[in-house]
Amino acid sequence: MKKRNILRRKILGFVDFVMKKNQKIYQSTRSERLTASSAQAVLQGIAPDGGLYTLRDFAQEEVDLQALLKMDTLPMAAEILSALLPDFSKEEMLDLVRAAYAGKFETPDLTPTVAVGEDAVLELFRGPTSAFKDVALSILPYLMRASAAKCGSQEEILILTATSGDTGKAAMEGFCDVPGTRIIVFYPDNGVSAVQKAQMTTQQGNNVCVCAVRGNFDDAQTGVKQIFSRIQQENPLTGKNIRFSSANSINIGRLAPQVVYYFSAYKALLDAGRIRLGEPVDFCVPTGNFGDILAGFIAKQMGLPAGRLVCASNANNVLTDFLRTGVYDRRRPFHLTVSPSMDILVSSNLERLLYLLSGDAKLVSELMAQLSAQGHYQVPAAMLEKIRSLFWAGFCDDDATCRTIGQVWRDHRYLCDTHTAVAWHVAQQYKAANPDHNQVVILSTASPYKFPEAVLRALSIPQQGSGFDAMLQLEAATGVPIPANLRGLDARPVRHQDVIDRENMLEYVLDKAVNPSWHA
Ligand SMILES: *Cc1c(COP(=O)(O)O)cnc(C)c1O
Repeated sequence: MKKRNILRRKILGFVDFVMKKNQKIYQSTRSERLTASSAQAVLQGIAPDGGLYTLRDFAQEEVDLQALLKMDTLPMAAEILSALLPDFSKEEMLDLVRAAYAGKFETPDLTPTVAVGEDAVLELFRGPTSAFKDVALSILPYLMRASAAKCGSQEEILILTATSGDTGKAAMEGFCDVPGTRIIVFYPDNGVSAVQKAQMTTQQGNNVCVCAVRGNFDDAQTGVKQIFSRIQQENPLTGKNIRFSSANSINIGRLAPQVVYYFSAYKALLDAGRIRLGEPVDFCVPTGNFGDILAGFIAKQMGLPAGRLVCASNANNVLTDFLRTGVYDRRRPFHLTVSPSMDILVSSNLERLLYLLSGDAKLVSELMAQLSAQGHYQVPAAMLEKIRSLFWAGFCDDDATCRTIGQVWRDHRYLCDTHTAVAWHVAQQYKAANPDHNQVVILSTASPYKFPEAVLRALSIPQQGSGFDAMLQLEAATGVPIPANLRGLDARPVRHQDVIDRENMLEYVLDKAVNPSWHA
């Protein structure tokens, strides 16, 4: 009898050990068997079956909320990131966080939360390129390099990215002169604004390269995808000690850093006396690829008292329909809007939500197959019910976006960009439809100076001259200062002038890859 008990305890202990271990393990959203450590997940980016790496449930990474809310932003980031990426100790993570962020953002708290009327705005655009993507792309290079070391990889990391404007610049700034990494960015020759182009072509750093591709964003994007699949089939650089990788938002290393600012916003509201500890807060997120808002869901799973997550879309409102009806249908016209970073019909990170809500990789795999074959899918009723309890969704068109910029300026003297205006507008819809709402935090994803022409128009100020002149005009009219990284951009020396055809992208990359010095 005694023996049996000991045996039983031993077996239970072992099962417990295996379970605990497994909980810390990332796996593909499309197959539970394709697992990876957190470092492997960061290094690989995407799972071999095309799924995204996720934990089974982020609730087991629950943090000590009270302790966390007493911390400054950098230690708080280290705490949260080492919970999400358990291969890294808190001490290791704090070193990476400091290297990535210290001194590079406009304010020491990185992402300030400011009161605007009865709402609060979480400003995510105070980073080195005035884009919200700076938050994740500042630290991704450090996470990748440290992950490579943990996995025993000695290879140099070569990042390839196609950009419609913002991601490329933020990625180059993040990877700029990080040892062991190089980055090549392709942008559509006539598809980015003058300001965005100047931001990229004047980029400093000896390990960065940016090149225009004749065509539109799709041409550049397809070109990069073809290079990746070509390299996977037969790598012409075998033996050259180079690992190709991408910096796009499906990498868990880009998602995890975004979880931090949901906690820091909560702390800011608490410190300002706008909420009591434990009181839920609703977040309204201008959404494209569903990465930003998913980070909010992960924060909630980890124990943040978040109420509703409000998904704000522009005229490309595929997510509004999905979150309301459970039917995802990409078969619809694509609209070019004044909030271009949200012009997306297939939101890749939604796949992670489907897995986290169902825990069913087979279901996710079937839905994704259906999306790619037929362009649409419908989730089971039980999942829709969960979705509707967690999320609320709305959208607004360009007219409403511009009216909102003008109205927020007149009512509150707060100048917001087009993406933030979409979120502002949807937040007001949400409050009107839900009188029992909580304190609302609106996520602000870009500086108004990244879209100065549209913002000027919204304020009914006739534009004179180029996009650069529009910046100065906007500053003169509002008194809101131009961020240092954007001021005088047109006078900086151009360092990158290459323009190529899409057919020549592979050749261009191979040539660059074997050339040890890009900037003599
Ligand atoms: C990328 C981006 C978004 C959308 O974020 P997702 O994580 O893709 O949903 C919104 N606004 C701006 C300015 C962006 O650059």
